[in-house]
Amino acid sequence: MALIVQKYGGTSVGTIERIKAVADRIIASREKGNQLVVVLSAMSGETNRLIGLASEITDRPSAREMDVLVSTGEQVTIALLSMALMSKGVPAKSYTGTQIKMLTDDAHSKARILDIQCEQMKQDLAEGTVIVVAGFQGVDEKGNITTLGRGGSDTTAVAMAAALKADECQIYTDVDGVYTTDPRVEPKARKLDRITFEEMLEMASLGSKVLQIRSVEFAGKYNVPLRVLSSFEEGEGVGTLITTEDNEMEQAVISGIAFNRDEAQLTISGVPDKPGVASDILGSITEANIEIDMIVQNVGDDGTTDFTFTVHRNDYKAALESLTKTGDVLGARKVYGSDSIVKLSLVGVGMRSHAGIASTMFAALAKEGINILMISTSEIKISVVVDEKYLELGVRTLHSAFGLETDGNLK
Ligand code: ASP
Ligand code: MG
Repeated sequence: MALIVQKYGGTSVGTIERIKAVADRIIASREKGNQLVVVLSAMSGETNRLIGLASEITDRPSAREMDVLVSTGEQVTIALLSMALMSKGVPAKSYTGTQIKMLTDDAHSKARILDIQCEQMKQDLAEGTVIVVAGFQGVDEKGNITTLGRGGSDTTAVAMAAALKADECQIYTDVDGVYTTDPRVEPKARKLDRITFEEMLEMASLGSKVLQIRSVEFAGKYNVPLRVLSSFEEGEGVGTLITTEDNEMEQAVISGIAFNRDEAQLTISGVPDKPGVASDILGSITEANIEIDMIVQNVGDDGTTDFTFTVHRNDYKAALESLTKTGDVLGARKVYGSDSIVKLSLVGVGMRSHAGIASTMFAALAKEGINILMISTSEIKISVVVDEKYLELGVRTLHSAFGLETDGNLK
């Protein structure tokens, strides 16, 4: 008998019909002898609707009241699903975050989970009851309702799985797994059977929005096997398993191509090449609350040097303004930038043990006449910045260069 945590997202519980279909899925899994804890999101669109209501009253709502408000969406779906299960003869019990004492810190709208009380739930499970828990919400030490940030139900599910030492945490969503890249950009993208936590974090932070990033971090930290599955697929799919690196398994060198359209690049050139300059330049950007992603500094030759870095495209104007000021102070030769660039990244743990990945990547891009503006690498990732007009071509070129449409790069 396995203990499984299943999470269903907003579209999966978006209508009464769908809630009934989710109940059938749960019952099928239970009939195989599994114990089940189910975590739900609000009906699709509901959280946005609630936020809209608040904005009709004030543009500066209290953070505490906002959490009282937006946490109600999940209370609706858990009660309805429990009723659906019971009407099909299956014992079920819904719990809000407060009821299961999902203890968080007091950072409203971005709270972090500290502890979960499992005693009552364990007793329910032992009695054969399906437990249905409201995602996204918790309670702080003083009893205030908190929420975990948009998409936070994924994190609730992983936290429940970690606390209950579940055998698997299954995230049911509207896609059937994690793909080698976005199928809307490369129709030959292939669903991955498995991917490591590390790779998934890179893929997720680079824009593939299948899971809330924090839930992947949490799953990696507590080693909770995580599976992404479609709630619309007929029968039982296998989805994509996100797990630790397994040396026994044949590991693909490259797992996927991630990309990020929301990038902008800034350069400051001809600044004095002396201690403190990097800190002056980047410090003023961070002081303006702008996050810097890639950073490149040139080797100086005439006593001056250049810096190029990237920021989120929304921050481009503010960053350029701040950098121009710093440029004046430092007597820089020039400050300039572009907000029509994108980042393409090759992700794969197999890179650690394979040489020549970067040169294959650069050669493939060169063959298509795609100019590389910046390069950065980590142990399991190589990123390049290119002009945004090359995004689609770049993704497809790399996808085929590494044989991702077939299992081509399995070593
Ligand atoms: N309902 C919340 C949201 O829309 C939480 C979630 O769906 O995971 O962000
Ligand atoms: Mg979601």
